[in-house]
Amino acid sequence: MSELIFGFDEEQIKKDICKVMRNLFERGLVSALGGNVSARVPGAKEFWITPSGIFKGELTPDDLIKLDFDGNIVEGIGRPSIEWPLHAAIYRVRADVNAVVHAHNPFTLGLALAGVGLKPITVEAVMVLRKVEVVPFAFPGTDQLAKLVSEKASTGARAIILQNHGIVAMGANLYEAEAIAETLEEVAIAQFVALALGKEPPVIPERDVELYYKLYRLEK
Ligand code: 13P
Ligand code: ZN
Repeated sequence: MSELIFGFDEEQIKKDICKVMRNLFERGLVSALGGNVSARVPGAKEFWITPSGIFKGELTPDDLIKLDFDGNIVEGIGRPSIEWPLHAAIYRVRADVNAVVHAHNPFTLGLALAGVGLKPITVEAVMVLRKVEVVPFAFPGTDQLAKLVSEKASTGARAIILQNHGIVAMGANLYEAEAIAETLEEVAIAQFVALALGKEPPVIPERDVELYYKLYRLEK
């Protein structure tokens, strides 16, 4: 019913979740069992999410589980990702977010562990990442982690680094969320290379960043 009203293809969303998960695996942003991806069912308080603890590189749409925002299974068999509270918490507070990616980006995490913040060193860092926040460690799959994430998500962050764990990327659609997760890692690697060579990387001037935000009517 909602599919007809909102003109979207739920099967396509499920296929895209599997594709994004595979892309993250192939890029080394998650290990075989790590990470999870979800997408909101347009117009409903429900979302499709990847299953827990099974190989993430070759998921098929039948592996996915549809949940409501309280974690009740609406459709699908198997166990949903343990991080479903974090995904649901984001959909609750961010009407503009329709897809969430959780990955274990090694370089992004490495810089965060060293206390080095990501800087606007590339055009993509400015355009794609915009606002990145960090939350302290909380155990995976807990309500405490979901609460920390939803507090930062409600400030308009596009990405959140989970200290000692990984990252969360939030997009208007699945490919935007994937792009944010990948851009985090690209920026972290570039910054790491410069730092490893003993140089403090120059950043894009503040006035150019301001101009970009004005041009695209974006909020910081
Ligand atoms: P799931 O397999 O349950 O999604 O857990 C993976 C993970 O990365 C937990 O933080
Ligand atoms: Zn994780």
